[in-house]
Amino acid sequence: MPAQLLEGKSVALKIKEHIKLEIESLKNKYSAQPKLVSIQVGENSASEIYIKSQEKTARELGIYYELRKLDGKITQDELIKAIDNLNNDKNVHGIIVQMPLPQVIDAKLISRFISPLKDAEAVHPQNMGEIVFGRTKILPCTAAACMELLDSVPAFELYGKEAVIVGHSEIVGKPLALLLLNKFATVTICHIATGQRGTLPEFIKKAEILIVAVGKAALIKGEWIKEGAIVIDVGINRVEGRIVGDVEFDKAAERASYITPVPGGVGPLTVTILMRNVVEAFKQQQ
Ligand code: NAD
Repeated sequence: MPAQLLEGKSVALKIKEHIKLEIESLKNKYSAQPKLVSIQVGENSASEIYIKSQEKTARELGIYYELRKLDGKITQDELIKAIDNLNNDKNVHGIIVQMPLPQVIDAKLISRFISPLKDAEAVHPQNMGEIVFGRTKILPCTAAACMELLDSVPAFELYGKEAVIVGHSEIVGKPLALLLLNKFATVTICHIATGQRGTLPEFIKKAEILIVAVGKAALIKGEWIKEGAIVIDVGINRVEGRIVGDVEFDKAAERASYITPVPGGVGPLTVTILMRNVVEAFKQQQ
């Protein structure tokens, strides 16, 4: 395997060290600590895993973490009211609404009711919009995690590079395209229609940086990868009891210069970025 592994854990460790120092100095300056409140509506085994990891990371870093469990039968208006109470609570600095929400609740609409100042996952349209101007420090966690991984590649410059993203979701592909553009990469976004048209290999063969966030195991064939490319695989798929990404790992690793493992690539970094957002939100609220 000629490719080197881009592991999220080691990048996360460095960011965590920085966050810990920052929290210490904020405690001295303001005699207060950042607090993140997580809202969970009803029970969901997928979000339980994220909640545990958020709780653990927050504790490790010195961020208060409170889980508010709301009844699965609450109405949209009741959820909005609960968010608003947190928006008005000066002891709460970050809010996260765990997905998925019950079907009767419009998740996209809900993101508009989190105060942009407390929006720990950067899902509010204002925070999303600020990415266009390259001004916000509160960033969508997975997209920012991909940028941190690229930043960790020694002596690598994004300027002018051909970057291809596969997947155009609001939480990953779209904000990531803007973050890459802000660094002057030349960005192409592929999605379901590219796949249906059969032109995915054409785009991927040109990619010096390839970031895939689809959720389909082995969608990206190893032989499509450009020699020396940096490959970031965001996908999470369960195949025969194992977690795999969207890229054919072994074959891609023969051609890439750097590649993220799945699991162990983007995943461990996302929760760290969430905590960095909370600290940033805390600072902005002082
Ligand atoms: P999504 O379902 O919102 O979007 C999927 C994207 O893939 C869409 O843009 C769609 O057009 C595209 N797509 C679907 N089929 C395609 C095909 N055949 N060819 C090309 N494009 C195709 O997904 P999402 O929420 O962005 O998540 C994508 C994957 O990333 C999932 O596996 C998810 O679990 C994973 N994920 C991981 C993390 C992490 O922290 N590691 C965070 C978020 C999402």
